[in-house]
Amino acid sequence: MALIREYFLYSGTSQTVRQSDRMQHFPIFLAVAGRRIVVSGGGEAALAKLRLLMKTEAHLSVFAKDPDPRIIAWAEAGRLTVHARAMEPGDALCAALFYAADEDPEEDARTTRLARADGALTNIVDNLEDSQFITPAIVDRDPVTIAIGTEGAAPVLARAIKADLEARLPVRLGALARIGKAFRRVAEALPHGRPRRDFWSDWYFRTGPRAIETGEDTARAALDDLLSGHLSRQDRPGHVAFVGAGPGDPELLTLKARRALDEADVVIHDRLVGSEILELARREALLIDAGKEGFGPSMTQGDINALIVEHARAGAQVVRLKGGDPTVFGRLDEETDACDAAGVTWHIVPGITAASASVAAIGQSLTSRGRNASVRFVTGHDMKGFADHDWKALARPGEVVAIYMGKRAARFIQGRLMMHGAGGATPVSVIENATRPDQRILATTLSDLARDMADADLTGPALTLIGLAPRAAIALAEHPEPRLQEAF
Ligand code: SAH
Repeated sequence: MALIREYFLYSGTSQTVRQSDRMQHFPIFLAVAGRRIVVSGGGEAALAKLRLLMKTEAHLSVFAKDPDPRIIAWAEAGRLTVHARAMEPGDALCAALFYAADEDPEEDARTTRLARADGALTNIVDNLEDSQFITPAIVDRDPVTIAIGTEGAAPVLARAIKADLEARLPVRLGALARIGKAFRRVAEALPHGRPRRDFWSDWYFRTGPRAIETGEDTARAALDDLLSGHLSRQDRPGHVAFVGAGPGDPELLTLKARRALDEADVVIHDRLVGSEILELARREALLIDAGKEGFGPSMTQGDINALIVEHARAGAQVVRLKGGDPTVFGRLDEETDACDAAGVTWHIVPGITAASASVAAIGQSLTSRGRNASVRFVTGHDMKGFADHDWKALARPGEVVAIYMGKRAARFIQGRLMMHGAGGATPVSVIENATRPDQRILATTLSDLARDMADADLTGPALTLIGLAPRAAIALAEHPEPRLQEAF
């Protein structure tokens, strides 16, 4: 009876209706030190499993009529026990796990039946449906182990995630964690919360990886020094990072921006910054929407300055997150002046500005030999209303102008440029929501600009590029990119 129940519990898809939003496999880390794990099979599949299993402290028994010489060598080296015969009833008694790796469906079914009767949890290599458990893709930085599972649906995906993590985690993370673990008690000298978090983050991502290069003893000494440093450190003073969030696509954040978000206590952001990016902020961080769009802030600049200073003075690591690049039409100076006046330290992390994102979207270059040796970033709108510019210069043939906040000023800009001699056929591209899933590209000319823009009913942030027509239409048709949409 117990066996039958177990069968239904573990035997997977054929007996149960798939509940799409629930896990079919529950990830756990099984204690295997000193326990038996049995493998049936002596070929490639068995070798692959054994290589993995030999990383554990389990007792391994292999049953195979004709075991691979490598398995015999491992047995001679005392790493496992090998029985040069087929499995029989009782061979998997007391085993925690059993792997059927004979690569023969009938033999695998037979050995699995035997192992189940002996009470082991069973896995058939490359047979998800009849397996009671599956082995995840593993990133091994012992004692840090990351198991990746896709319920067998996408081994390619699991492998890609594994490769990504392998590349991202310091190779010696395991050693760092071991040394760190032994040091946990000592580090309790630091107060709970922020100071302790800072200390460990410093160890795992800055000091540790560097020190471990020259060996574990150096690393241990470095950890001691690091702790004294942190203990003697006054409470970390507040600080403000003015961070560029880029045009919208989270993948266009710089690594420095990500790190700043990771370490922030407070994130004060513009409305332009999307939720996908805000989600990258440290979970405990306080998120404040300063409500600023291109113009017409709902919070006054004075309020924002005061908010930044207030949090930094209270000791917070503040990230002032601005769309695009913080140095472009971001009223940065007013905020840095406020910091200076309050004696708050700050630095700038640049970001990708909307003009860069927009020319990329239309497959053009901001400058081009023989066409334009300079490019201007202008605002359509300033505090007094429509902004005035050196229209004569902007109207010259070949000139490239990136207009920020230019939606409402379209008719005004069109009029001024044409009045100063710009041709009505001058190409103009308007890029709305550049790099976001709802990106739209409007290809027009100077004479049609105001009308086409009104017809397009733009609701998102839009950048106007005077002097450039989209060039990517053909290339896009050949290599469709999901983020780019048809010109309308
Ligand atoms: N600091 C920002 C600009 C702030 S001004 C930067 O460097 O990009 C706000 C203006 O930027 C908007 O009115 C719009 O003209 C432009 N903009 C910002 N994000 C944009 C995007 N994703 N697509 C098109 N234009 C954008």
